[in-house]
Amino acid sequence: TADFLTFDEHFKHWAGDRPDAVAMEQGDRLTTYAELEVISRRIAAFLESKGVKKGDRIAWIGKNDDLYFQLLLSAGRIGVVMAPIGWRLAPLEMIYILNDTGTKLAVLGEEFVGLADQLKEKCPALEHVLGESEARAAIMATPPADTVVPAGPEDAFLQLYTSGTTGNPKGAVLCQRNMFGLRKASLEAGLPWAEWDKDEAILVCMPCAHIGGTGLGTMAFGAGVRGIIHAEFTAEGALTAIGQGITRFFIVPAALQMLIQHPLAAQTDFSKLKYVMYGAAPIPLELLREACQTIPNAGFMQCYGMTETTGTVVSLVPDDHDLNGSPKMRSAGRANPGVEVRIVDPDGNEVPRGTVGEIETRSANNMLGYWNLPEATAKTLSEDGWVRTGDAAYMDEEGYIYIQDRIKDMIISGGENVYPAQVESAIYGHPDVAEVAVIGVPDPKWGEAVKAVCAPKPGHTIDPASIIEWTRERLAGFKVPKSVDIIDALPRNPSGKILRRNLREPYWDGMDRRVN
Ligand code: ATP
Ligand code: MG
Repeated sequence: TADFLTFDEHFKHWAGDRPDAVAMEQGDRLTTYAELEVISRRIAAFLESKGVKKGDRIAWIGKNDDLYFQLLLSAGRIGVVMAPIGWRLAPLEMIYILNDTGTKLAVLGEEFVGLADQLKEKCPALEHVLGESEARAAIMATPPADTVVPAGPEDAFLQLYTSGTTGNPKGAVLCQRNMFGLRKASLEAGLPWAEWDKDEAILVCMPCAHIGGTGLGTMAFGAGVRGIIHAEFTAEGALTAIGQGITRFFIVPAALQMLIQHPLAAQTDFSKLKYVMYGAAPIPLELLREACQTIPNAGFMQCYGMTETTGTVVSLVPDDHDLNGSPKMRSAGRANPGVEVRIVDPDGNEVPRGTVGEIETRSANNMLGYWNLPEATAKTLSEDGWVRTGDAAYMDEEGYIYIQDRIKDMIISGGENVYPAQVESAIYGHPDVAEVAVIGVPDPKWGEAVKAVCAPKPGHTIDPASIIEWTRERLAGFKVPKSVDIIDALPRNPSGKILRRNLREPYWDGMDRRVN
């Protein structure tokens, strides 16, 4: 037996303990914990009637939806694996993933039912494709199974594709232990945010095809609180939910920027908000300060982690968000209870504190492996259980981790290492700049030269010379961009991450960029 509750145990526990509490809220649709438990047995019976068995894959293609979370949790209860697909993907990419997973049954959000015929035609294993309302009706018409055969702690329940920031997305297979296994360690460590009040409500607004969406919805269920589901993030929607009293949410830095700069932010009552969780990409220091000032009463929590670690394994806790210039604000924080983190050189040896190397982490959160990619799995997950993150960082004497950037994105210019995130963070404060990405472009003299790609704030124009000047005042000479491109908006993936490889591509056309 595990030292945490499985899906099956959670369902029974909350249905007994707080039957009338709302588990899920989407618009006018409310589902209590008692109702959710019955729905999950309906879904178990429904999946069985469709020939979907333990270990089979099912998919959701759509925006965030209470039906998605009902399917996810109920499938997890019986060991059927949900492999959600980002709705922003092109149909060919969806087809690729459906075939890769061998998905038997897919449910399409109402806006995506038009894809059904194409998917059925191109995906031989796909036996059942249902639209959202069709699926809801079929589930409610299925009598609940009297009993279910519950899946265990090591059984997979989720196959989540990485964001595809550095290359093709990979399907990380995650089990129940990965999702719930560290909860006890956090509680035992006495971390106040590991405790949830019964009446808390958490906003789920990041896409469900990513760990920031699915992880958060599952966290609400694990804590027995109300998950408020937004189909997608809008600053206005999130601010409204905050005003109505949500206590926690998670968003990426790009969304946090939209939120605090929205005109509604000034009139929003933030007083019920306990924690603002943010992460998944580097955050410019200036933006973090602005956010802390806009929402002074909430505890800010930076989250560092990846799909392969089922989300957060390193956190910068509220007390370390010190606006008086503490250098800790530049850190992603320390390993969560139950998590090991080390910084290693390319040979895998631990480096001294203060030296930059690759972050490796080991905990119950580490994925079982990538689906169908044994080589990639062996490269990422060592035999003794360490995940190689591909992120460069150093650790200070107190164990705080300072992420530099992705190793693949590091620029080597004239023999010096330049981490784009640091240059971006400096340029972000420029009065005309809304967003910025820094990339390496080929240069006959320097090997690679630093280039900044900037998008202006509405109504502003950017003078490239002033960007260079601004950076020169703030950073060492070798980090200062040699050139500046101006574009309207940066390319981002659905997780809100800047796609530097897309920006790099035209400059490296036909040439090999060294891989770090
Ligand atoms: P792919 O692996 O397909 O290239 P991805 O790495 O962006 O995509 P995710 O698993 O969604 O896919 O993201 C994990 C990565 O996000 C981490 O490896 C790290 O580079 C970045 N990241 C996460 N949290 C933080 C943070 N707090 N600060 C800086 N970077 C972060
Ligand atoms: Mg990754």
